[in-house]
Amino acid sequence: MDELRVDHLSFTVQEGVSILHGVSFLVEAGTFGVLVGPSGAGKTTTLNLIAGFQRAAAGNVTLGGTSMNDVPPERRDIAMVFENYVLYPHKTVRQNLEFPLRSPNRQQDLSRAEIAERIDQVASTLRVEKLMERFPSQLSGGQRQRVSLGRALVRRPRLLLLDEPISHLDAKLRHEMRTELRRIQRDLGVTTLYATPDQADALALADWAIVLEGGRVLQAGPPRQLYLTPAHLRVAQMLGDPKISIMPGVVGPSSGLTVLGKRYDLDAPADAEQESRPVLVGVRPGAVEVRVAPDDSADGTVVLHQYLGYGTALHVDVRGIMVRALVEGRSPVKVDDKVSVTLETGGLLLFDPDTGSLIAHQEVTPWHG
Ligand code: ADP
Ligand code: MG
Repeated sequence: MDELRVDHLSFTVQEGVSILHGVSFLVEAGTFGVLVGPSGAGKTTTLNLIAGFQRAAAGNVTLGGTSMNDVPPERRDIAMVFENYVLYPHKTVRQNLEFPLRSPNRQQDLSRAEIAERIDQVASTLRVEKLMERFPSQLSGGQRQRVSLGRALVRRPRLLLLDEPISHLDAKLRHEMRTELRRIQRDLGVTTLYATPDQADALALADWAIVLEGGRVLQAGPPRQLYLTPAHLRVAQMLGDPKISIMPGVVGPSSGLTVLGKRYDLDAPADAEQESRPVLVGVRPGAVEVRVAPDDSADGTVVLHQYLGYGTALHVDVRGIMVRALVEGRSPVKVDDKVSVTLETGGLLLFDPDTGSLIAHQEVTPWHG
């Protein structure tokens, strides 16, 4: 098993435009890394540089302790699966799986028995054994995707790169494939880097998530750590559904926080600030309490009510700021209701309004002064 190390990768296109600005991260041997970021963040570019399909302006890619910089792509032993999977339409599933093992630039020569054994193993891991004699046109979208993954895996690569492999599948299939991918990766123990714009993929799949935006790594770590203590406002906004609410607030003096027109006490002031300073307050939907209130004490109006099964998401317009709440069960609150909005005791994030960096992760209690 091989560890993937990416050090200060930069990439510039002809016109001198920088696409990646010193991207660094590590995916430990045999683990599942997820590169998550919006469209245009530089995910595909990063994968292409790792695979060797494009050349970096600067930086290093190291696989299992060996620098890949001077290794041509076909010798890197890296497999990449794209969103638009390519299967040979006139070959059966078995022939499609065989092909990578027979191609002329293979280093090692495998016997017929070895080839058959590898194909059987991959077919069983991917659960396509019963489809071996079919042609791609006779497969569903999910089955085709499994076979294209199989084509990458029969070679037993040292590293598996997946570029949005399930984005085009419908929601139900996407959910199934997400679970399957994780199982397959565990079964095979292959070091994997998976690129996706979908935050749910990152939270559900990653041993280690790398948040990329504008060609820069904003933060990397276990998904839970990124969710609970995002280093940057953008990380907080990217992870979680319903999304975190961000609202302007003022901290201080004497460890008070004023947000949405109410005052709260911070449990552990970062420093005993005498001056008040503006902050951006991030609150996860589970920590927002919404109650129907008489007009004169209401903070805002409910604009959206989404029943999610496990709970209800309420979107409240508080004087132009959108506050999202997640309440258990089926909320009696309706669209157009006038409501009070209170931040419950619990996790609350304070960000620097100029840089977006996390200032503090705080517990708050409503102030009864
Ligand atoms: P992602 O996969 O995260 O959506 P990409 O790596 O495909 O992002 O692209 C990152 C940015 O780099 C995009 O703005 C894209 O338009 C630009 N880009 C990528 N490759 C080239 C290229 N060869 N020439 C010009 N711009 C490029
Ligand atoms: Mg891409």
